[in-house]
Amino acid sequence: MAAPQRKARLTMPAPVAADLLRWYDQHGRNLPWRVKFGRQDPYLAWLAEIMLQQTTVITVIPYYEKFIARWPNVTTLAQADIEDVLAAWAGLGYYRRAHNLHRCARIVAHDFNGRFPATEAELKELPGIGDYTAAAIAAIAFGRRANVVDGNVERVMARLHAVEKPLPQSKRLLRELAEETLPQLRCGDYAQALMDLGATVCTPKRPRCSVCPWHKSCLAVNQGDAEHYPLATQKTQKPKRYTTAFWLENGQNQVWLRRRPATGLLAGMMEVPTTEWQENAGQTDAMPSGLPRRVAWHTLPKVLRHSFTHFDLYVRLMYAIGHNRSENGDWYDKDSLKTLALPSLMRKIAAAIALWRDG
Ligand code: SF4
Repeated sequence: MAAPQRKARLTMPAPVAADLLRWYDQHGRNLPWRVKFGRQDPYLAWLAEIMLQQTTVITVIPYYEKFIARWPNVTTLAQADIEDVLAAWAGLGYYRRAHNLHRCARIVAHDFNGRFPATEAELKELPGIGDYTAAAIAAIAFGRRANVVDGNVERVMARLHAVEKPLPQSKRLLRELAEETLPQLRCGDYAQALMDLGATVCTPKRPRCSVCPWHKSCLAVNQGDAEHYPLATQKTQKPKRYTTAFWLENGQNQVWLRRRPATGLLAGMMEVPTTEWQENAGQTDAMPSGLPRRVAWHTLPKVLRHSFTHFDLYVRLMYAIGHNRSENGDWYDKDSLKTLALPSLMRKIAAAIALWRDG
């Protein structure tokens, strides 16, 4: 007989929101975008939530502070050039977010008179705002009773209720379980409390169950093995892609860069010219157009690996000193690379080249 998806609670009490909120009032993290016991400005809540998509809190903090110092409200961000937004975003990854951020700011500034809509349904109509982000903004900025469920919350729910069904098939069940505990009041604080619990106490490895406010309600702990949950079906390996990057210098402290197309992966960002990114490792030699062929290209011994969401990219590196007058790119001072809209992959390439050349 198949195991039940959710274990019976018997005499153990169900988790209640008040216990988590009491814990949050004492132990919740102080973050630059956070307002405890109140509602956050919708612009700030939105900005933080977009930046936090697939990115850690520590990484986001300096970017968030830089953005609000430069663009303190949605109107100023809407008036900014996309080039400036991309340059300020450089290094944060997932650059589609920066394009959507800018588009969303323009829509809110022009179509909503500078005010974000308050409901999840309306928020989800805006670029870059999916289910999770809409729920988070609705709860944190508007006090709505929204069910804010991400991987951290799924893990907490799987453990609290000892859910035997593996992820991702259990997603719906975990969402229903999260819904059962939602409070009527302090919905924004509750959402952030749950985020903090997952990030600082109910961690993937070695959860700190002895300080958990839901310790007495947790079925996983009761059966002595919190880390057993959440169960997951075997992951499949990411596909691989291959390319060659061509780093051309002119001997005057400048490097040749070009801009990527306006659509697709890393849209509109600057890049070191590369060959097409291919699935076949053996076909990465064809030099991109606009690069000089009659210079001595050196192949570096190191091959870089860079992980994107849906594939791993392996990058062979070529280096040369020479001149170039092509229209497909331009020379940039190497000292200015920090201020350019260079994605993390390109920064990795620049660092590997510098290490090889100066090492
Ligand atoms: Fe997670 Fe432990 Fe708390 Fe259960 S008691 S919810 S496993 S931290």
